[in-house]
Amino acid sequence: MLITADRIVTGSGVLSPGWLQVTGSVLTAIGQGAPPAAAGSDETTAADATSAGHEPGGRHADLLALGDVTIVPGFVDMHTHGGGAGAFPDASEPGSRAAVELHRKHGTTTLIASLVSAHPADLLRQVEVLGEQVQDGLIAGIHLEGPWLSSLRCGAHEPSALRAPDRLEIEHVFAAAKGAVRMVTIAPELDGAIPAIRRMVQLGAVAAIGHTDASYEQAKAAIEAGASVATHLFNAMRPIHHREPGPVVAVLEDPRVTVELIVDGVHLHPALYRQVSREAGADRVALITDAMAAAGMADGSYNLGALAVDVTAGVARVAGTDIIAGSTATMDQVLRNAVLHSGVPLDEALVMAVRQSSINPARALGLPAAGLVAGSSADLVVLNDDLRVTRVLRAGAWVPGVSD
Ligand SMILES: [Zn+2]
Ligand SMILES: [Zn+2]
Repeated sequence: MLITADRIVTGSGVLSPGWLQVTGSVLTAIGQGAPPAAAGSDETTAADATSAGHEPGGRHADLLALGDVTIVPGFVDMHTHGGGAGAFPDASEPGSRAAVELHRKHGTTTLIASLVSAHPADLLRQVEVLGEQVQDGLIAGIHLEGPWLSSLRCGAHEPSALRAPDRLEIEHVFAAAKGAVRMVTIAPELDGAIPAIRRMVQLGAVAAIGHTDASYEQAKAAIEAGASVATHLFNAMRPIHHREPGPVVAVLEDPRVTVELIVDGVHLHPALYRQVSREAGADRVALITDAMAAAGMADGSYNLGALAVDVTAGVARVAGTDIIAGSTATMDQVLRNAVLHSGVPLDEALVMAVRQSSINPARALGLPAAGLVAGSSADLVVLNDDLRVTRVLRAGAWVPGVSD
């Protein structure tokens, strides 16, 4: 299949117009200008083919000319608890499927399922069930958000489930997940956290600093031990103080760390999206939803793990409190907010948001390359003038039920 569009945004620029060739589940070629007439041939693999010498449009049996649309890479959401009324901490097949399908319709073609802090037996059961869903290809990995978090910065985590990292428990949890744990959020100041970070990294997971009251030095020690992500920077984290810069400054000044930002319009002031994208650079920010079950659903009562959550005007809060409990956002919404808040011209904003919503999270988690490069999975999102999703292609197949 050959797809043409007025604008295709990659991590390095905007192809206007541009074309893409999809063979089976793989993106086999991408280029600027009109597509090569012989693009149907298996020989076309150049990443930078141009229109020179070719008939505009060619005469391709399987040509899809989309015209006035913007194509971006499929989103990689590295931090999602649920959506479409489904929740990953419930560890059920229908619940996970509902969440995956909701986010897929909004352009998330690769999704990491996030848990919340749970008691030991529950945690083991959850990773066992979700580990199977990773093997089945429903989700791309598991993110343990807790239970090894600070009770001072627990946000919407059940306080009685928080504990210090225990060497044996870590071994049991990783064994039960059968290699499916991709990322673990941990508070570096807890007893035993530094050796725990070293062990998690050794076991193939990414250690993420988050839900933490760590000092600047404690956060630095975690990075030295191998931590390479900051979980929703600023949220549930000791804030910057001019004599104690804390974890925020420690992660921002270290080029090895990718920082998650929830650009849902609720968790973070727009100025901080601009500031962090400038300070850390476009390559070190990962846009996430941190969505819970209410994403894509009406206001009402939901759960986040064991906690009851009320959603009013799209904002999720732990029932009876002001504590924000995840978001109801989808990645397309986050992308629109990022573009709107970026303070730079549209093309530049789109290129930056594309890196932050696909390439950076995939790289941070060691997932297969994303971002519309020849040889990658054919995952893309078609957006209209308002940057709303009109089509989603995942592994070369159109996702059903997408509407703008
Ligand atoms: Zn959190
Ligand atoms: Zn979360």
